[in-house]
Amino acid sequence: MASTGQQRTVVVGAGPVGSLAALYAARRGDDVEIYELRGDLRDPSTTPLNFTKSINLALSERGINSMRKANCPGLLDAVLDETIPMHGRMIHGERQGKLFQDVQLYDVHGRFQRAVDRGGLNKTLLDQLEKMPNVKFFFNHKLTGADFKKNIAWFEKRDPSKADKRGAEVEINFDFMIGADGAHSSVRYHLMKYARMSYQQEYIDTLWCEFHIAPSEDGNFKIPPNYLHIWPGGEFMFIAIPSLDRTFTSTLFLPNTRFAELDANPSSIVEFFKSNFPGVTPDLISEEDLLQQYLENPHLPLISIKCAPYHYGSSVVILGDAAHAMVPFYGQGMNAGLEDVRVLFDFIEKYSSTSQDSDIIRAGRARALEEYTKQRTPDAAAVNDLAFRNYQEMRSDVRSPVYRLRKWTEEK
Ligand code: FAD
Repeated sequence: MASTGQQRTVVVGAGPVGSLAALYAARRGDDVEIYELRGDLRDPSTTPLNFTKSINLALSERGINSMRKANCPGLLDAVLDETIPMHGRMIHGERQGKLFQDVQLYDVHGRFQRAVDRGGLNKTLLDQLEKMPNVKFFFNHKLTGADFKKNIAWFEKRDPSKADKRGAEVEINFDFMIGADGAHSSVRYHLMKYARMSYQQEYIDTLWCEFHIAPSEDGNFKIPPNYLHIWPGGEFMFIAIPSLDRTFTSTLFLPNTRFAELDANPSSIVEFFKSNFPGVTPDLISEEDLLQQYLENPHLPLISIKCAPYHYGSSVVILGDAAHAMVPFYGQGMNAGLEDVRVLFDFIEKYSSTSQDSDIIRAGRARALEEYTKQRTPDAAAVNDLAFRNYQEMRSDVRSPVYRLRKWTEEK
């Protein structure tokens, strides 16, 4: 442990949330070490998260503001330059044999959210960190254990060239650990042995599968780029989010049992798309391509997590999906995780002192973490609940304003 006021802050997980947290800590002058299970995302040989090429995300003001407040010259411009504005939803359907699109703007004042490539955003954050002299990266390091009373952690060095990838164990000391290691967080697992943590986890009965819509033959977007496109199916949906290369990253959200039915009868897949998502095939994705993508791309689960507290003493805090993984239907999982970072460091700043005495620094941080848990737990739980609610909105209620009005009247 540092004997002077210089703090050794260890961040576990170099996803978007861990990377932003490392930036905030480094800007405060801490000695920052980032430990990441996988290799460097910027290295093409690294297997991406979820084994998919990349997820396209909706980036909103919540996330943008958190990057703005990092006060890193050039960061926000570099991120926003790689985004596409989405001014609203475009709902696709078929009426009396004719395809139609219905535009629903997000905001009467013209405000919008942006489509961003999660991998690209993550790389921009890593590039910023690389420039900071007080930041060290430890890729291919998996957290395997932690003692939050003695502030010791153990990592297994991973060797990607070995079949089981297992390597030697390293032991490190730290002053402060930030766990941003995602929904299946090891930091959270070890934190539970120290804090009296309440924990709730749910897998919803829906899986997701990614699809890719290529540009048109003349190199343009096949459908208007400035929208989040939705094909509502009632109990399921297909969506498409624009990418800078004029493709769309699309996602099929479907109940587990319906996936199983299609898996058992692949010849029905194209027909299923034609009758439920009119205009997708063959217009946007050829029938062969659609089938191939359905069969080759993984069908992945969706988890929702609520827990409290998020911290223990002055030693550790969990952020992002590690603290509150949520279903993706409100487009706020990563945004809320980035906001965690801003809120956390606001409290750390508020309770920090100019003292170089480690005990005083620890006491200030303990107070900050306590306040953080107190404020952030109900806020994160609320976004989590809204995310569940918005699945009904996206897959069904968007279809008909009349339906929505009737439902609202019934509920009154
Ligand atoms: P992660 O991105 O999961 O990163 C965690 C990191 O920790 C990983 O790099 C992992 O390798 C590393 N790690 C794990 N275990 C260890 C260990 N033991 N030791 C060391 N490192 C470890 N959010 C939005 O805001 N908008 C959207 O539109 C949106 N759409 C989504 C669509 C889908 C289909 C899905 C699945 C999610 C979506 N999300 C969206 C949610 C978003 O992807 C997550 O909230 C976000 O990626 C969480 O970031 P994170 O940094 O907390 O965790």
